[in-house]
Amino acid sequence: MSTERTFIAVKPDGVQRGIFPEILRRFQNKGFKLVGIKLTLANESLLREHYADLQSKPFFPSLLSYMMSGPILATVWEGKDVVKQGRALLGATNPLQSAPGTIRGDFALDMGRNIIHGSDSVENAEKEINLWFKKEELVDYKPTMYGWIYE
Ligand code: ADP
Repeated sequence: MSTERTFIAVKPDGVQRGIFPEILRRFQNKGFKLVGIKLTLANESLLREHYADLQSKPFFPSLLSYMMSGPILATVWEGKDVVKQGRALLGATNPLQSAPGTIRGDFALDMGRNIIHGSDSVENAEKEINLWFKKEELVDYKPTMYGWIYE
């Protein structure tokens, strides 16, 4: 059983628009296991660390205010190839280039309102999970459905 984990965050627009139950449903339906979830307000220092590689981008200030404009639903999912598969469920960064059927492809239009974040590598997933969650906030359990999801 794979214990690979990824960090998925529904951004403030995805929470305010009520899209988050649909997002949880898509990850659950694919077979992934929810191991952490909380509704939280992100502060600037957390976001500066989270988006450290984007600090010099012209859109960085608007990205910060977007991410601080309301609650974020922070989640951690576990399962086979979940980092890469999670990114596939999200779609491309630019919603106009996201295929229909993906989350951004189905629910968003603008890059600065693309409703969801997902870790882009196993290494970054670990960093982001540690940044957003305390160890004791993550729950380990065996879903009763696993025998029907994994052979
Ligand atoms: P992703 O979220 O798909 O991993 P990035 O890490 O490149 O993409 O960017 C982080 C976030 O910054 C994006 O999800 C998007 O909200 C915002 N962003 C990225 N590029 C732009 C841009 N050119 N204009 C406005 N916002 C952007």
